[in-house]
Amino acid sequence: MVEIIEVVTATDAEVVEVFVAEVDVVDRSAQHGGPVGGQEPAGAVSRHPAAELPLPRVLAIANQKGGVGKTTTTVNLGAALAELGYRTLVVDLDPQGNATTGLGINARNLDCSVYDVLMHETPLDECIEPTSVRNLFVAPATIDLAGAEIELVPAFSRELRLRRALAETTDAYEFTLIDCPPSLGLLTINGLAAATEVVVPIQCEYYALEGLSQLMRNINLVQSNLNPPLELSAIVLTMYDARTKLADQVATEVRTHFGPRVCRNVIPRSVRLSEAPSFGQPIIVFDPSSRGALAYRELAKEVSGGAPRRSG
Ligand code: ADP
Ligand code: MG
Repeated sequence: MVEIIEVVTATDAEVVEVFVAEVDVVDRSAQHGGPVGGQEPAGAVSRHPAAELPLPRVLAIANQKGGVGKTTTTVNLGAALAELGYRTLVVDLDPQGNATTGLGINARNLDCSVYDVLMHETPLDECIEPTSVRNLFVAPATIDLAGAEIELVPAFSRELRLRRALAETTDAYEFTLIDCPPSLGLLTINGLAAATEVVVPIQCEYYALEGLSQLMRNINLVQSNLNPPLELSAIVLTMYDARTKLADQVATEVRTHFGPRVCRNVIPRSVRLSEAPSFGQPIIVFDPSSRGALAYRELAKEVSGGAPRRSG
């Protein structure tokens, strides 16, 4: 578990400050392994702790670094969960709208988007679109959302807008995945405040751990001030290249720091995964038998516990 080393008393204004954290808030006591970057104890394939969490689950996919695989993980984990039979909603909270286009939605044809939900109290139900995958829905983002980061600053209950909107959706989703932008501003705070858990994708590259203590600090701040049940539930290693020693070193280091919360299934670097968004398709539709599709399917089973909830 995340250990809160100090008691943080922050006002609303402080919550959105960017903190430089020297404290190492990760638990080093639990050092479990996996098939990559660590040894699995013989004969024991332990369940991921996140698989025990009760439904409905709301996952904020967050890391303030850009290009680490947040959107790719949101879209493809979401699609794989939907394929397992879970009714799943992707909320695009990044003004770049990559999760929206990656799920085949053309932002130009939209009457409303997450921007209207945050700024104009438009009900989330009104902007949700179906996708090409059964059980998978998306609350789309457009470039307007870039303005919300600033327009929200003086707004009433600005950190809780998304949480309230999600609470009012009449359709039940077993999994909601929130694709956070690459920053620690008010949009990400809204994502963290609305979530029941945080999933952090980490790219298997040099500097992978840079900025993570800052992210942990923000998670702790949101937890202590806005959303007590919030927890860091899972770390997903992305863009893993088995040919490089570095990827293995990064994986080992992340597992040493974060223990069993690191998902056993790592996402390989795969060109097919990077091609799929330009076709507006998740990988399980674009190339169902590719390595990337298999990896995200396995990840969905690991994170959910694997039991299909419904036949569809
Ligand atoms: P973020 O949302 O964190 O900024 P993205 O998911 O958009 O990151 O990924 C950044 C870039 O890397 C995108 O071009 C994406 O297609 C590519 N990418 C992500 N995951 C993989 C992967 N496993 N293999 C190859 N390319 C990937
Ligand atoms: Mg993104």
